[in-house]
Amino acid sequence: MSIQKRAFAVSGDRVFVSEQGEGATAGKPAVFLRLHHCNLDCGWCDTPYTWNRAMREYYEEREKWSIEKTVETIASKWKASVYHGSAEPRLIITGGEPLLQQKGIVELLNCPEFSHWHIEVETNGTIAPLPPLLCRIQWNCSPKLANSGVPLERRLYPDVLRVFTHGNTYFKFVVQNENDIDEIIGDFLPHLAGFPRSRIFISPEGRDTETLDAVIDRTSGRVSKEGFVLGDRLQIRRYGDKRRT
Ligand code: SF4
Repeated sequence: MSIQKRAFAVSGDRVFVSEQGEGATAGKPAVFLRLHHCNLDCGWCDTPYTWNRAMREYYEEREKWSIEKTVETIASKWKASVYHGSAEPRLIITGGEPLLQQKGIVELLNCPEFSHWHIEVETNGTIAPLPPLLCRIQWNCSPKLANSGVPLERRLYPDVLRVFTHGNTYFKFVVQNENDIDEIIGDFLPHLAGFPRSRIFISPEGRDTETLDAVIDRTSGRVSKEGFVLGDRLQIRRYGDKRRT
């Protein structure tokens, strides 16, 4: 394997094995790689230690990992997991915003170790992927709504969203109430022309089961009526609000 000089900034969660909690592959086991840094600052973010410079963890937990170390850690975690040999190998690159480090992702996925792996990247839809990545990856693209507290001009990039409509993409919107669905239809769908609503997940915002249930109660009827897919957060239901899940 040829080793490049590029390095990842990884967060305190580093690499861990769990099940995908949200979206089209919910329930499937995977190795997660959590990268540091984000270009947004959502009020309800559940990984603020990856970007919030006011937090001690932001500085104390981050590390620089070579591509070689990243590959070896991912492979060894998967081999040591109960899923090795039974489930298809799956890597989910998350953050933070992973596409801030997408040149490293290109190098990572060029390593032969990953030639037969399923790869997912979770992104906020503000940075277009490099051409070598667009068709290699399942994109879990989650543009942010006004409920994130981030101004529209920082979170909505129509040209970037259009790029994602040409990849193996599932969109996910985090909602708190029915008004958020109006916002999706009004602000975002015009930039997703021709994209099937059956690939658009509506995920409840919440970090405990009661909140998730309440949001689903408030929004599920409208989600179905509009032809979207009702999402959930299985990691919260199974493990609670814990890191590395
Ligand atoms: S885009 Fe994601 S990682 Fe970044 S602040 Fe928002 S929720 Fe957190």
